[in-house]
Amino acid sequence: MRVAIIGGGIIGLAAGRELLLRGADVTVFDPAPGGTGGAWHVAAGMLAPGGESAFEFPYLEPLLAASNELWPAYAAELGEVGYDDAGTLSVALTADDVAEARREWAHQKLAALTGSQVRDREPALSPRVRAGAFAPTERQVDPRKVVAALRESLSGRIVPRLVGELSGVADEADAVVVAAGCGTAALTGLPIRPVKGQMLRLRGEPGLIAHVIDGVADGRHVYLVPRADGEVVVGATQEERSDRALTAGGVHDLLRAALDLVPGLAEHEITEFTVGHRPGTPDNAPILGRLDDRTVVAAGHHRNGVLLAPITARLVADLVLTGVADPLIDAFTPRRFGCA
Ligand SMILES: Cc1cc2nc3c(=O)[nH]c(=O)nc-3n(C[C@H](O)[C@H](O)[C@H](O)COP(=O)(O)OP(=O)(O)OC[C@H]3O[C@@H](n4cnc5c(N)ncnc54)[C@H](O)[C@@H]3O)c2cc1C
Repeated sequence: MRVAIIGGGIIGLAAGRELLLRGADVTVFDPAPGGTGGAWHVAAGMLAPGGESAFEFPYLEPLLAASNELWPAYAAELGEVGYDDAGTLSVALTADDVAEARREWAHQKLAALTGSQVRDREPALSPRVRAGAFAPTERQVDPRKVVAALRESLSGRIVPRLVGELSGVADEADAVVVAAGCGTAALTGLPIRPVKGQMLRLRGEPGLIAHVIDGVADGRHVYLVPRADGEVVVGATQEERSDRALTAGGVHDLLRAALDLVPGLAEHEITEFTVGHRPGTPDNAPILGRLDDRTVVAAGHHRNGVLLAPITARLVADLVLTGVADPLIDAFTPRRFGCA
C-alpha cells in the first residue's frame, strides 16, 4: 500500500516508521524536513502521563498511560535518544504552591514528601522548597534525537514539499495520513490552534540535578529537564498566541521560578531561547481517526505529542493497514467536532 504522510514532525515520522516496518510504501512530505519549525524542536521531551493534561482531561489518561508503557522498548529500538528513567520530582515553594500541588499529587496518588525528603533526593533544590512528590514513571527523552532517529529510519522517503491541498498528494497514494501539527487546520478545516510556548536551554556542569523537576514557585510554573551532557531545558510558557516573539515577561518568569527552585542554575550559561507552538484542540486532546475512506488524521497532540508518538504510530498504522480502529482511539475521533 502506498501511504503519503503530510508532516515530518514527530507524529508523522513515528507513523511513517511504523507503517514502513509493517510493509507499506511510505512517503513523508514536509516543507523543511528536520528544520526548526515543528513543535518537536522546542519540546522538552517529558514523558509525563500523570501531569496537568490528565488532571484536566480524564479521558486522555488511558492513552497517555498506554504510550508511556511503550516508551522503554521504543527508545531501545530507536537507539541513543536521551531516554532517562530517573523519574520526576514535583516540588512546591510556598504554602500556596503546596496547596495547589497537593491536588495534583492526590490525583496521581503520589505520597507527599517534606522539603528535606525532597532535598535528600535532589540536593541542589533550594532550602525554601517546602514539599514535593516523586513520580518514578514520569521519564524523559530528547525529542531532537528521537526525530533524528526516526528520520534515519525513513531515509530516502522524506520529500521536501509543502502540501497545499490534500488532493495534491491523494492521487499519488492509496492512503493519506495528515500529521501536520498546527498546519493540519489549513489542510482539513479541523479546529487546531497554536498554543505558544517560550523555552530556554541552559548549560553547565553535568549532574547539578538528576531528575526532571516539575515545580511551582510563587504561582509560577516551571519544569527543568536535565540532559546527561549538562544541558538543562527550562520551560515553558503557555499562551493562546500564534506569534514567535520571545518576551521579557516570559523569560523573566521562567528564569525566576527556575532559580527560586534550583539556585545553582544561576551559574549556568544561557545557550538557547526558543518559541514553539503546541497544536491544541478545543478539548486539548488529540484528533485521531478517519476523515474519509482514504484519509486518516493524527494531529492536535498539544502538550503530549512526544509522549504520545509511539501509541499514535501504532493506532494510525492499524487504522490505515487493517481498516479496523482500536477502541482506544474512539474518544479522539474528528467526529467529536462535527467533522468527517
Ligand atoms: C514549548 C513546548 C514544550 C513541549 N514539551 C513537551 C514535552 O515535554 N512532552 C511532550 O510529550 N510534548 C511536548 N510538547 C508538545 C509536542 O512538541 C507536540 O505535541 C508535538 O511536537 C506534535 O507533533 P506533530 O508532529 O503533530 O507536530 P510538529 O512537531 O509541530 O510537526 C509538524 C510538522 O508538519 C509540517 N507541516 C505543517 N504543515 C504542512 C504542510 N501543509 N505540508 C507538509 N508538512 C507540513 C511542519 O513543517 C512540521 O515539520 C511541547 C511543545 C512545546 C511547543
